Amino acid sequence: MAHEQETEFEMIDENVAKIFAELPEGVELVAAAKTRTPEEIMRAADAGVRIIGENYVQEALKAFELVGHKVKWHFIGHLQRNKVKKAVEIFDMIETLDSLDLAKEIDKRSAQVGKIMPVLIEINSGQEPQKFGVMPTAAEDFIHEATRFKNIKIRGLMTMGPAFGDPENARSFFVETKNLFDRIKSLEIPGVEMRNLSMGMTNSYRVAIEEGANIIRIGTKIFGPRE
Ligand SMILES: *Cc1c(COP(=O)(O)O)cnc(C)c1O
Repeated sequence: MAHEQETEFEMIDENVAKIFAELPEGVELVAAAKTRTPEEIMRAADAGVRIIGENYVQEALKAFELVGHKVKWHFIGHLQRNKVKKAVEIFDMIETLDSLDLAKEIDKRSAQVGKIMPVLIEINSGQEPQKFGVMPTAAEDFIHEATRFKNIKIRGLMTMGPAFGDPENARSFFVETKNLFDRIKSLEIPGVEMRNLSMGMTNSYRVAIEEGANIIRIGTKIFGPRE
């Protein structure tokens, strides 16, 4: 067991090194850590990962106890309103803002702890009704409305795109989200700072970088397949 674990930890080191070696200047790696243990996350941090992405607040709190401020923490899952109070305490960015109700709650809870929370707007680039995210056509209005919340700071867009299959299938979704990003940026909306475009996962991050992502979120290629 101890031996197996050491082998697994060495794999994390190697995987992180490989990804960094091909990462262009200016592109940030988020290690998507859902289902991983705090020890695995710590190992990724020791290997040089600077941002951990978490889908679940409860899991993040456990990992945070061990890893703390050694890394930045990005929330990348679907955030429920009753989890926001805890979330604003540990997260440095919420990448998945997708409703004004949620914006209002993040604003309120951030004010209570004296924070201005950087957020990305999650775009439902596939326009699939069963998925989360703001529809591309609604994004501009959404951002205008969200600027009334003074304890959140809009910093860009995030999208999922298809998670499996041929990475080429994701390209059109990434292109569309990049176009939307550029258009919103060109509006120079007061209080909005369009800096980050978070797209691409293990199967699609190369395509995402080609199409302008400057944050990629990688789980499997760092930690191995999820059980
Ligand atoms: C799990 C997850 C990822 C990473 O997925 P992999 O295919 O394991 O790289 C990226 N983004 C989000 C939002 C995720 O939930």
